[in-house]
Amino acid sequence: MNSYKCCFKLVLAMKISIKEKSFIARIASKILHEKSVAVVIGKTIHLWNADKKNLLKNKKWLRHELVHIQQFRQHGLIKFLLLYAWESLKNGYYNNKFEVAARAKENDETPAINIQLK
Ligand SMILES: [Zn+2]
Repeated sequence: MNSYKCCFKLVLAMKISIKEKSFIARIASKILHEKSVAVVIGKTIHLWNADKKNLLKNKKWLRHELVHIQQFRQHGLIKFLLLYAWESLKNGYYNNKFEVAARAKENDETPAINIQLK
């Protein structure tokens, strides 16, 4: 797990962007039947019916999305999208191993969040 911790630290210190009223997140909200949604693609957190200010205030939620940014970084954009889709088909959204990993890190306060917004 040391390498995971190492890479997670790097991601927390990297530049990310947050996009409100995102078309991608809007599509995801329809598919997931959720009113508000956050979707990570690469280094961008796409939001639908949620705002940047609330995301930045909610450290648990922010940490969850940062884990997904780390997963994109670890696997690469296309490969991660395919792995994520495969996991969702196999195990469903909740039991998707990438979601399980993100939820597991939500309350982990080490390392501290140190993001730079683009
Ligand atoms: Zn997630």
